[in-house]
Amino acid sequence: VAEPSVVAVDVGGTSIKAAVIGESGATLRTLDVPTPVADGADAVVAAIRGVARSLADPGVCAIGVVVPGVVDVATGIARYSANLGWRDVPIAELLTAESGVPVAVEHDVRAAGHAERTLGLARDAADCLVVVIGTGIAGVVVAGGSHVRGALDLAGEIGHVPVYPDGEVCACGQRGCTETYASAAAISRRYATRTGTPSSAQEIVAARTSDPAAQQVWDEAAEALALALAGYTMLLDPALIVLAGGLAGAGAALRDPVRAALAGRLLWRPVPRVEVSPLAGRAGQYGAALFAWRAAGRDLGSDWRLPGG
Ligand SMILES: [Zn+2]
Repeated sequence: VAEPSVVAVDVGGTSIKAAVIGESGATLRTLDVPTPVADGADAVVAAIRGVARSLADPGVCAIGVVVPGVVDVATGIARYSANLGWRDVPIAELLTAESGVPVAVEHDVRAAGHAERTLGLARDAADCLVVVIGTGIAGVVVAGGSHVRGALDLAGEIGHVPVYPDGEVCACGQRGCTETYASAAAISRRYATRTGTPSSAQEIVAARTSDPAAQQVWDEAAEALALALAGYTMLLDPALIVLAGGLAGAGAALRDPVRAALAGRLLWRPVPRVEVSPLAGRAGQYGAALFAWRAAGRDLGSDWRLPGG
C-alpha cells in the first residue's frame, strides 16, 4: 500500500518546483521543471498540469499549488500575476477535474511564511518577519503572535519599501525599492550592468572573494536589505528575522553581511536575531504541502523533522 502523500507545487518565475510529501514530512519524489514564461500563460498552466500528473502516485490524497501574484484562496483561482502573465486561472478546478483529489491554491510568500511558522525557524516566534528573497522580495509579518495582513491584504511588501530616495527605478514604478538592489534578479542585473557578464546570484556570491565587482554588488544588496530591516525593526520590534527564499541558499554568505549591516544601522537598541532558513528555496513548497494536507483534512507539520532543521 502506497504511503499517504500530497503533491506540493511551487510555481516561480524561473522554475516550477514540485515534490511528493508524505505524512511524516518526508520528501518521496521531486520534480523541478523550468517555467515556460516566454511561451505564455497557457504554457505555464500546461506545465503545472503536467507536473501534477506525473507526480500523481496512488497514495496522493491532495494537491497544493502556490503561485505569485494575487490569489483567491477560497475558489482556488490565480487572479493575476505580472511575472507569469496570467489572469483568472481556475487552478483548483482544473487539477481537481484531472486528479479527483482536493486542491489547495495559495500565495507563494504566505505559504513560505506559513511553513516557517509551522515547521521552520519561526516556529515559536510571536514577533518575527519572514523575508522571502527570490526573483522578487516579499515578507510575512508576525506581530503579537498573529500574521498581520493589513487593510488591503498588502502587508509584508518589504521589497517595495524605498531605501534610496532617488534610487534606481523599480519594476513597480517607484524608485529605490529594496527589491531593486537585493533580490536575486537585481543582484544578477546590477552585476551584468557593471561587468557586461550575465551571471546568476549564486555565481556572484561564489565569486565575490576574488571578484571586486561581485563583492560590491553583494554588499550593496546586504546594505539595502539591512536598511529596510532597520525600519521594520524600529516599527515592530521583532525578536527574529528569517531570510528565506532561493537567495537564502547562500547561507552565512547572506546572513553575516546582513547582520553586520543591520547592526551598523541600529545603534541604540538590541539587534534582532537574523537567520537564514534551512528550508531556503523549498519553504514555499513545504507551505504548499501543509495546505494540501489541510485540504485532505489533516493538520500536519508541527512535528516534521526536516533536513538541516
Ligand atoms: Zn518597487
